[in-house]
Amino acid sequence: MQDERIERDFNVRSEEEQQAFLQQTWCDHCQEVNLGMINPREYLLKGIVFVEGDCLGCGHAVLTELTEDDF
Ligand SMILES: [Zn+2]
Repeated sequence: MQDERIERDFNVRSEEEQQAFLQQTWCDHCQEVNLGMINPREYLLKGIVFVEGDCLGCGHAVLTELTEDDF
């Protein structure tokens, strides 16, 4: 297990997949799903892939955790 973030390239994903990640979000701050995000960053942490971005609703960071099925 790694405690460090390993940066991954979000842009290598297909356009379709990128759009899905950008649209299918959960914002803790807004308490709403699918508000959308901008500025996606992707990284691997402790064996889990995260896509982090900024909520379109409030600008706070939103985090999408990918299960293995999504890899
Ligand atoms: Zn929000």
